[in-house]
Amino acid sequence: MANCAIVGINWGDEGKGRMVDLLTENYDVVIRFQGGGNAGHTVVNEKGKFALHLLPSGIFRDGVVNILGNGVALDPENLWTEMQDVMSKGVAITPDNLMISDRASLLLPWHRDLDGLEEARLADKKFGSTKQGIAPFYSDKYQKKTVLAGELFYPEHLRAHLADLMEWKNLTLTRVYGAEPYTMETLDKWINESCEMIKPYVRDTGHWLREAQAAGKRILFEAQLGSLRDLDYGIHPYTTSSNTTAAFAPVGSGLPSARIDDVIGVVKAYSTCVGEGPFVCEMFGDEAEELRKAGQEYGAKTGRPRRVGPIDIVATRYGVEVQAATEIALTKLDVLSYMDRIPVCTGYELDGKQTDRFPFPVALADAKPVIEYFDGWKCDISGARTWEDLPRAARDYVTYIEKAIGCPITYVSVGPERESIIIRK
Ligand code: GDP
Repeated sequence: MANCAIVGINWGDEGKGRMVDLLTENYDVVIRFQGGGNAGHTVVNEKGKFALHLLPSGIFRDGVVNILGNGVALDPENLWTEMQDVMSKGVAITPDNLMISDRASLLLPWHRDLDGLEEARLADKKFGSTKQGIAPFYSDKYQKKTVLAGELFYPEHLRAHLADLMEWKNLTLTRVYGAEPYTMETLDKWINESCEMIKPYVRDTGHWLREAQAAGKRILFEAQLGSLRDLDYGIHPYTTSSNTTAAFAPVGSGLPSARIDDVIGVVKAYSTCVGEGPFVCEMFGDEAEELRKAGQEYGAKTGRPRRVGPIDIVATRYGVEVQAATEIALTKLDVLSYMDRIPVCTGYELDGKQTDRFPFPVALADAKPVIEYFDGWKCDISGARTWEDLPRAARDYVTYIEKAIGCPITYVSVGPERESIIIRK
């Protein structure tokens, strides 16, 4: 099997972690290429149930090398906590199965503070940040005001670099936000208690990857969040601060020469969205609460109830296009089993006209959903393992979506467990 990227097509939380966990069987290397600990992948397998935030989902497979690429927001404190948690459940994490790029920038302690301070300043105009410091981190990265993981191997240089950055950042903390300034004492503690713990995993992963590529190793690129949260192609400014699209995978992974042969886009059988911003197909009231409960739609990182709605064909088709998806994994079809009839957002109404084209972000606020209904199947489908096991109405629903979004649905997931999957190829 050739190189592959697994990406989210919608707003995130589509079930990418579950697909990576399933497919890592066919790959030698799994790389996270963007984002940080601000979202979560939930994985359920024979080792237990895990909420991963930064660790690649291949960490559970023996023999798979997992890499945190240069494009991620590397938070040493959170990563070490997550590693300890996963290791405490009997999963081995060693420098042989986890490697951290020496070119990954470190998320510094003040990034989280700045996220919280800025959301507080924005008050009712806030963006719904998870307050993990991701936006301040990426802004500083592009200003070249971060520290690379590889600098941990140069302790004197590291302290001097951090002292310079601290002097600069304290101006913002104290003068803009009236917050407490940082001291070197706090940063030394951070170096000793968090950075030193992850240091054994840091190496020149670019070199390692080029050798792996030359040796014909199969590489899986694992994305966080989804197309509509992409910094450039998403619903600005309600996006994340990194590129969630497959096109960024080679750059953020440390293998800019990689060719991605297969892009598996993960689509949920209905829509969910966390945080603020336009969400055209949103459901409200009892109807929403019922779907939220059926799908257990509460954030993996924050526990926040997710906003829910029917599948949005306009947004999903756009997501497929910007990801250049070659195939689709449709997840959580089982969640819809309780519905008598299944709503689908088949188009938008904008300026008195119906459209199937995803509008400019500002115009989304005025778009109204066009809803059509499909027959429900009203029976438990979580035991289905072949296409024929699915009731007719469920097959019709999947076939309709496939046609409407213009990409083959090759996987249909009917439960969170590794084996709860129908493979259609
Ligand atoms: P990710 O960030 O894209 O990996 O998605 P999340 O992990 O945040 O959300 C997906 C959630 O749905 C997790 O709790 C999964 O265990 C669960 N899940 C994934 N696929 C299925 C499925 O087909 N059916 C059901 N019922 N749950 C699923």
